[in-house]
Order: sequence, then C-alpha cells, then structure tokens
Amino acid sequence: MIKKSDNIYKYIYSIDASHLEAPICDSIYFPESKNDIFDILKIAITENKKISLRGAGTNLVGNCLPSDNSIIIDFSKLNKINFENNNLIVESGVVLDDLNLFLEKYNLFFPVVPGSHSNCLIGGMMATNAVGMRGFKYGKMIDWINSAEIIYIDENKNIIEKNISGDELKYFCGTEGFSGIILKANLKTSIKPKNISLDFFNFDNVNDLINKVYEIKKNQKVSAIEFIDKEVSTFINLEEKFYLLIEYENEIGNIKNLEEIKKIWDLRDACYPTCAANGFILIEDPQIENEENLIKLINWLCENNIPIFGHIGLGIIHPHFKIDQNTLIDEMYKFVKELDGKVSGEHGIGIKKNKFLSQDEKNYFIELKKKFDPLCFFSVNNII
Ligand SMILES: Cc1cc2nc3c(=O)[nH]c(=O)nc-3n(C[C@H](O)[C@H](O)[C@H](O)COP(=O)(O)OP(=O)(O)OC[C@H]3O[C@@H](n4cnc5c(N)ncnc54)[C@H](O)[C@@H]3O)c2cc1C
Repeated sequence: MIKKSDNIYKYIYSIDASHLEAPICDSIYFPESKNDIFDILKIAITENKKISLRGAGTNLVGNCLPSDNSIIIDFSKLNKINFENNNLIVESGVVLDDLNLFLEKYNLFFPVVPGSHSNCLIGGMMATNAVGMRGFKYGKMIDWINSAEIIYIDENKNIIEKNISGDELKYFCGTEGFSGIILKANLKTSIKPKNISLDFFNFDNVNDLINKVYEIKKNQKVSAIEFIDKEVSTFINLEEKFYLLIEYENEIGNIKNLEEIKKIWDLRDACYPTCAANGFILIEDPQIENEENLIKLINWLCENNIPIFGHIGLGIIHPHFKIDQNTLIDEMYKFVKELDGKVSGEHGIGIKKNKFLSQDEKNYFIELKKKFDPLCFFSVNNII
C-alpha cells in the first residue's frame, strides 16, 4: 500500500474545493483492499491518530479536510466495479463518470449526477448524499443504494465491519465521514432512456422564469430543470438573459439533435469553471421550495451582483461569491433562514456551515458519534 508523508503531499491534502484552510496531516494512505484499511485503522488505534476520509476532494464545505496531525485515507485506489447477475458492487473509490462508462455497455446508467461528475467518487457521493442535475426525477444518492459495507471503531477499539441497508444507511450516507468508512456499496441502476430531448428557454426576468418552472413541474414528466442567471449567461457567451434548461426522457422537447443537446449540457457544465475564472470561486447551495420566497432570494442575489445557476426544479441554487465576500455569504444564509429555506440543499455541513446548525441538529450528530465512533477517531473537525 502506498503511504505519502512528504511535505508537498501534506500540503496538497490540506486543501479541497471549499477553499477553506486546514491543518497539515501526518500522512496519507492509499488502500487497495479491505485488509489495507484494517492495517491503517490498527495504526491509528495504536498511535492514537485521528482519521480523515477523502474521496476526490470536490466537496465545497471542507468536510474531507484533515485535523492536525491526522491520518488521511484516500480511497481513489479502491476502485473496482463488479457486475454479475444484475448485482452491481462498486468500491468507494470509483469515479462516477467511470461507473457510467462501464454501465453503458449494459444500456444502464447511474442517475445521480452532480456537476462534479467527472471527478467525484462514489464513496464521497454517498457520504454527502449527493443530489445533482437529474435530482428532480432521480432523487438523492441514498435512493440508489441497496446496501453498503461499512467499517468503524467501537468503544473497545475493535474494528467493526458491517453490511447495512434500509433505514441504517442514513447513519453513513449523508453524514460526511462522521461515523466511519464506507468501503463499497451495492447500487441500483436505471435503464438508459431511449430518447432524450431538451428545451432551452430564455427570459428577461426571474418571475417569468419561475412561473415557467412551476408550470412545467405541474404538467410534464421531466428529468432535469436547470437554470442560469443573467450574469452567468455572459460568462458562457450567451445573450444576457435568464435561461432554463429542461430535459425530457422522451421526444417532447424542441431540441432533439444529440449534438445540440450535448452543446447545451456543455454550457451548463461550463458555468462553474467560468464563474471561478471570473473570480467567483466560492459555491453555495441554499434550497428554497416556496416559489415566492425563491424569487425573493434570486432577486436579492441579483441586486448584490452575485452570479447564480443551479437545480431550480428542486429549489437548489448555486450563488457564487468572491473569496472576500464571506460577510455577504452569512447575510445570504440569514435571509435564506428568514425565507424558510435550508442552508444546504446538497453540499452538506462540513466545517463551513456548522455555525448554522440548530441545537437539535447538533444533538443528532452528537448521538451519532456516540453510536458509531465513541472514541472520536473519524472526521473530528467536521460538522460539530
Ligand atoms: C463543480 C462542482 C459541482 C458540484 N456539483 C454538485 C452537485 O450538483 N450536487 C452535489 O450534491 N454536489 C455537488 N458538488 C459537491 C461535491 O462534488 C459532492 O459533495 C461530491 O459528492 C463529493 O465527492 P468527493 O469524492 O469529491 O468527496 P470528498 O470531497 O473527498 O469528500 C466528501 C465527504 O465524503 C467523505 N468521504 C469520502 N469518501 C468516503 C468513504 N469512503 N467513506 C466515508 N466517508 C467518505 C469525506 O470525509 C467528506 O466528508 C459539486 C462540486 C463541484 C466542485
């Protein structure tokens, strides 16, 4: 098993896509098997080291960052896919796009597709309960897991290995590495739709756009409803307007040509890199389901010149901020709470948003820690 402890590695692993600062770790391990993981955990127990868990590091809330002098487990080499008798077993280090490439030959696909699909790993997606661009139809990561193999350390320092399914999945799926390790999972898949078509509408104002969203939600079966605001539209070289991308798994949409469809999805994929290239590197993810309140938030963001795009069909939007706009981010979340919204639609809590947790939410995580990680080995600087 590879282990890295030179300074350049330690530095690289003290950052992730959140742009938050973290302490320097002790070393980084790259396990290739369950036995390797057991060996790492034994080292952690013997040397009394904290453990941080890392997928591709694409999270936006600092939840894979190390605590001081901790051991990092990088899952990227645990990347086997096994598919027999319609039973799909995926190790936590498999990249989502690689999984979908693998499934193509069976005419299947894995439908939870975050914007980071070319990088993010299945374990990271499970730990964050990722949503994504087709969440409107296909829901969240937890909806696509039959069972998962997990590993944790009990109060007597025993390393416990367990298969969980059903309600128990929630203790590891969506808890950001707080309970322990997700080794692999038995995942569900979906049959690839025969036909796909799109509509790509533009609007001069937010009200018209949101009215269209709600009209479509009522009347059509769609797989994705994504939006791009005026400012982002200029970053991706479109006329300055609000845009709505609607994907149908049938031929009802006006755009049916596959190349044209790809071009429009490529525009959507370009939103994050172009926002970042224009200095807006911090991505947020408030969620507001109420129509009028969502309009209020979007207008507030536009007034503050904050570029936005996102999964508008779910009420999840991605305002982008500059590195010195943290006060404005706090103001936005205060406003989101006043509007009865959630401070995280899909990215999780991490170290960035724990200040917004209510005492009840904190208590949930305290109880979870007692249940699965009573000696506090895993992700200790995370969430609470
Ligand atoms: C451009 C961009 C677009 C994005 N779009 C979306 C989107 O549409 N929807 C969405 O939900 N998110 C999105 N994200 C956020 C991010 O990609 C997701 O949260 C993703 O699921 C993280 O996966 P990862 O492999 O990078 O995990 P990491 O960032 O490495 O880790 C995330 C969390 O998972 C834990 N973890 C990792 N592996 C394991 C394991 N094996 N066992 C236990 N815990 C583990 C880590 O400790 C950490 O808490 C986006 C990010 C970027 C940069």
